[in-house]
Amino acid sequence: MSSTKIHYILYRRLAIHHTTLNKLNRHPLSLLHDSQFNLCSNSYFYPYSPKPAAPLQTCAFSTTTNKPQHKTMTPLPGSCYCGSIKYTITLEDPETQARTSICHCGNCKKFTGGEHGITTKIPKSAFEITQGRDRIKVHEADNGSGVVLHREFCGTCGGPLLEYGANAGDNIYVFYGTMEDHARGQVEPKGEFFCKLRDPWMPEVEGMFQKQEIKQ
Ligand SMILES: [Zn+2]
Ligand SMILES: [Zn+2]
Repeated sequence: MSSTKIHYILYRRLAIHHTTLNKLNRHPLSLLHDSQFNLCSNSYFYPYSPKPAAPLQTCAFSTTTNKPQHKTMTPLPGSCYCGSIKYTITLEDPETQARTSICHCGNCKKFTGGEHGITTKIPKSAFEITQGRDRIKVHEADNGSGVVLHREFCGTCGGPLLEYGANAGDNIYVFYGTMEDHARGQVEPKGEFFCKLRDPWMPEVEGMFQKQEIKQ
């Protein structure tokens, strides 16, 4: 093969590679560090990125007009204790769309093994399992006041993932500690529930609302 032809082939490959990178709007070097990004139909994000979750620009296409609408989405990744199950929560604005709370009820004590449970309430549609769906176990039972409580946990390590009651509507409560460090930093707790069942040694958390009973 002549050297001219080899040069031409190399030039074409580089041009195609450059075009692809431009479409992704990413610096070429960034691909060296992020081997696990998903390219979805309308957006991309990094489900397992250990880096701080800087808001990423994604492109949402309206189904009616097909005109692109640019939104800033924030991915909040997490996993169970053993890492078999991984998930991503994707929200436009964690401050308003998520609410983390501490719950001192007896069910949270039993399920988590601690004095309280901490969960983050989010829209069900924002939650996506990205790995290990087949490892998820479900437990459903009356929570003691006539409401069926649905809980999901890892069948391998037993770690909790999420819960929701029959009255939760389109929301789920993800166990806060299963989120990665930088994700938890964006959804810090705002209040405490079932304070009447707080253990005597456990102080009130300053700066949060306190409710005597049910999650509201
Ligand atoms: Zn696990
Ligand atoms: Zn509780």
